[in-house]
Amino acid sequence: MTAYPITEHEYDVIVVGAGGAGLRATLGMSAVGLRTACLTKVFPTRSHTVAAQGGIAAALGNLGADDWRFHMYDTVKGSDWLGDQDAIEYLCRNAIPAVIELEHYGVPFSRTEDGKIYQRPFGGHTANYGEAPVRRANAAADRTGHAILHSLYQQCLKHRSEFYVEYIVLDLLMDESGACQGVLAWCLDDGSLHRFRAHQTVLATGGYGRVYFSCTSAHTCTGDGNAMALRAGLPLQDMEFIQFHPTGIYGAGCLISEGVRGEGGYLTNSAGERFMERYAPSAKDLASRDVVSRAMTMEILEGRGVGEHQDHILLHIEHLPAETIHEKLPGISETAKIFAGVDVTRQPIPVLPTVHYNMGGIPTNYHAEVLRPTAKNPDAVVPGLMAIGEAACVSVHGANRLGCNSLVDLVVFGRAAAIRAAELIKPGAKHAPVTGGSEEAALARFDRMRQAKGERAVGAHRLKLQKQMQQSCAVFREDKLLSQGVTEIDRIAKGMNDLGISDRSLIWNSDLVEALELDNLVVQAQATVYSAHNRTESRGAHARDDYPNRDDIKWLKHSLAWVDSKGKVKLGDRPVHLQPMTDEVQSFPPKPRVY
Ligand SMILES: Cc1cc2nc3c(=O)[nH]c(=O)nc-3n(C[C@H](O)[C@H](O)[C@H](O)COP(=O)(O)OP(=O)(O)OC[C@H]3O[C@@H](n4cnc5c(N)ncnc54)[C@H](O)[C@@H]3O)c2cc1C
Repeated sequence: MTAYPITEHEYDVIVVGAGGAGLRATLGMSAVGLRTACLTKVFPTRSHTVAAQGGIAAALGNLGADDWRFHMYDTVKGSDWLGDQDAIEYLCRNAIPAVIELEHYGVPFSRTEDGKIYQRPFGGHTANYGEAPVRRANAAADRTGHAILHSLYQQCLKHRSEFYVEYIVLDLLMDESGACQGVLAWCLDDGSLHRFRAHQTVLATGGYGRVYFSCTSAHTCTGDGNAMALRAGLPLQDMEFIQFHPTGIYGAGCLISEGVRGEGGYLTNSAGERFMERYAPSAKDLASRDVVSRAMTMEILEGRGVGEHQDHILLHIEHLPAETIHEKLPGISETAKIFAGVDVTRQPIPVLPTVHYNMGGIPTNYHAEVLRPTAKNPDAVVPGLMAIGEAACVSVHGANRLGCNSLVDLVVFGRAAAIRAAELIKPGAKHAPVTGGSEEAALARFDRMRQAKGERAVGAHRLKLQKQMQQSCAVFREDKLLSQGVTEIDRIAKGMNDLGISDRSLIWNSDLVEALELDNLVVQAQATVYSAHNRTESRGAHARDDYPNRDDIKWLKHSLAWVDSKGKVKLGDRPVHLQPMTDEVQSFPPKPRVY
């Protein structure tokens, strides 16, 4: 194996990822005097958070009475009761000060007539425990993520956080006892390798939408942190729960925000019928995302799709006043023009359910600490390791995330990580030597990928994986498809041994970057399809044709999946936390989920 010189760095905290979650954590850690480095493979403000459109949820009650308890109820119901109610309470209570804090950080929110933060309706957001729709989505036009990410980055600069930009983190450094000691990273600019030691390492690496052929997420969304956790022998949780957003642009996959329906947009089939009235008589077009995606898929399967191949649905906003479109939805007008060639003031937008969000990820508690569940202690903590944002499964989204609940998850748990780190770490404390063999294993994997001389090109093999996932594990699932999926994804995983890299340089080697990302995607695909095959019920985003009902007796539990270095998958589970964090709110026991 090539000998790689390694540059050494020591910090109190390493944050991997500079999306909303990573930046909020970096800022909080720096602000309490912890020496913090944020490592990111793309420039911070290019992280996928920048693309978030619709809003950030918090029960501010600026445009109608609201309460964090209503937000909590909606989130528990949205999760189809798989969310942990202690974490959901933590999220919904802290959402309110978190959004006010963002306002003070300089986020340019849209405003009401009297100068308050503008709020719009969104799917599944209700007042009085499901009684009537409520305005809870705090929005900066349809560019909310952009506004938040830029403000957080500026705050990090103000607090003199240190950034390592275009550093690809390869793996976690774990000692013999199973504690995390830091990470190994590759600098794209000069090809050097770096060991970062830290008392806490925070994974904020985002989702893995790119495991599917059609998704709304950026090309960088390959779930690198999730795969690092698997390689460190940790399980991933609830990986079968993949959110399909109802309105990705047909053909392109780009997102048309749910905010469009929040502002009065609606869907029609080939008969021009507003079919959501049949599936969700009261919430209609603003039912929860899994419900709308399934309804659209049913319409298409039953021959009421539109277009030459009757394979998509229409989204209308032509009836809205031009000033609403201009003021509240400027970004989507542009997106629809560029990617679908339609003028939204005159024509409907062709749309299709598209992979959008990963509810599953690295299991954590609501202090952001990563869990290594055992039979004796399902909530055992991994010392030195945290996970936040879409990479984590805390679990506030359970089987289905409500719109606007991710942006708020990023800032609430990014902040929680900083609070916990301040309790656990003495700034400047000495570091123990790196032991345990994980660095050698990480270097060996890196070198193996770099030297790969097989027959399969990275792009072609990735396409195979993405198409297989789209075919085997999409909106509707059943045993035959999933069994085939398990076999085929295992075969694709084995095929990684036959990968070939065309470029062996260490500087700006995009072929190697994509090979490493593909290596990460493959293990997550295995965890996803195995977990989906195993869960013989329908819950939230996981809809089985052969098991159409939710089964709380057998399946009110989180799925766990381990994938070892030979590609062997092991499954397990851990209990859902049905009790809230305090006695200021009741627990919400499972009941049928109708909108
Ligand atoms: C189009 C779109 C619109 C959305 N709209 C909304 C919305 O309106 N409201 C809402 O609540 N949610 C929305 N979401 C969901 C939400 O935006 C995401 O879940 C959230 O932004 C994820 O943030 P994150 O900080 O976890 O990760 P990301 O923003 O994806 O950032 C990941 C970071 O990790 C870094 N990274 C990854 N791997 C490595 C590695 N190996 N080495 C170094 N760095 C690495 C990347 O460089 C990046 O900085 C939307 C999502 C999409 C795709």
